[in-house]
Amino acid sequence: MSVATKNAQDTEFRAGGTDISERRRSGVSTGPLLDIAVEPEMTSMLWGADGTLRIGAATTIAAIAADARIAAAYPGIAASAQGLATPQIRHLATLGGNLAQRSRCWYYRSPEIACLKKGGSDCPARSGNHLYGVAFDLGPCVAPHPSTMAAALLAYDATIATDKRGCLTMAEVFGDGSNGAADNALQPGELIKGVELPAPMAGERALYKRAISRTHAEWPLVEVCARAVVKDGTFQFIRLTAGGIAAVPLRLAAVEAALQGKAANAANIASAAEQAVAGAKPLPMTGYKLDLLKGVVQDLLQRLAG
Ligand SMILES: Cc1cc2nc3c(=O)[nH]c(=O)nc-3n(C[C@H](O)[C@H](O)[C@H](O)COP(=O)(O)OP(=O)(O)OC[C@H]3O[C@@H](n4cnc5c(N)ncnc54)[C@H](O)[C@@H]3O)c2cc1C
Repeated sequence: MSVATKNAQDTEFRAGGTDISERRRSGVSTGPLLDIAVEPEMTSMLWGADGTLRIGAATTIAAIAADARIAAAYPGIAASAQGLATPQIRHLATLGGNLAQRSRCWYYRSPEIACLKKGGSDCPARSGNHLYGVAFDLGPCVAPHPSTMAAALLAYDATIATDKRGCLTMAEVFGDGSNGAADNALQPGELIKGVELPAPMAGERALYKRAISRTHAEWPLVEVCARAVVKDGTFQFIRLTAGGIAAVPLRLAAVEAALQGKAANAANIASAAEQAVAGAKPLPMTGYKLDLLKGVVQDLLQRLAG
């Protein structure tokens, strides 16, 4: 699917306002602003009789983090919401806004500097300071995707319901990173109505962990959401997704392949964790993220196996 360029003059929504307000203050976003009319459907959590869940897009991150039923059924979603930003931000920030938030790259956020996401012809971070940039270089823009919830939802095979196109897969919304001009493939004025989660698997557990440059109030350098069903000492199901390392939330398929059906022992976990960097292409300043990624993956796998 092609990913559209988003222009500064496009209409944008204000949900919690924690991202858009800053971009408007700085002049990076200048188009018309629509406050989201909060219909009950947009703020509710609807559980299906088959164990599925639909979370309205205007549900706050704090509400997701505090929901005991989500913590029981989708612990990776709950833990990701709990680990994100600060209590103040989580109280305002919504699920839809989290998924559609724009890049945190300091070049993009500067009104004085042109970049691919603002109609420029190249990525100034690639030749400039990209310390917090990608370690998997998938396209022309080297900023990692900023959404913690996107990485968690990818681990759960969630779909995203919009007002214009019905249910979209995560890949349809976030693309493959090859287009540096936008953070997602939502069309201008396309509203996320909610997120739909399949029923969890019997006996599954999940964990989330982030490596961060200070203890709170920061986007992670690397974050991983891991789900597993460990039965009779073997990984009967394993799923890992990561944020902070690529222009899109990334599935760590090589780690999954290394562990699926294998004994959940230290040797298998250590060698699978090495596979977390399969396909990585770090920039001159982002090689450190590969060690962080391997370390976070190994820790999560050990805890899921234990
Ligand atoms: C100090 C700090 C630390 C942070 N750390 C993290 C972190 O670790 N992980 C993380 O993921 N985020 C982090 N954030 C970002 C924060 O989570 C986002 O700003 C927030 O989730 C955005 O949600 P919102 O409802 O406030 O969106 P808004 O600011 O209202 O909107 C953001 C964008 O989303 C679009 N939008 C909003 N709702 C919808 C919708 N329903 N459909 C379509 N488009 C929509 C708007 O058009 C706008 O472009 C941090 C923020 C701060 C200030």
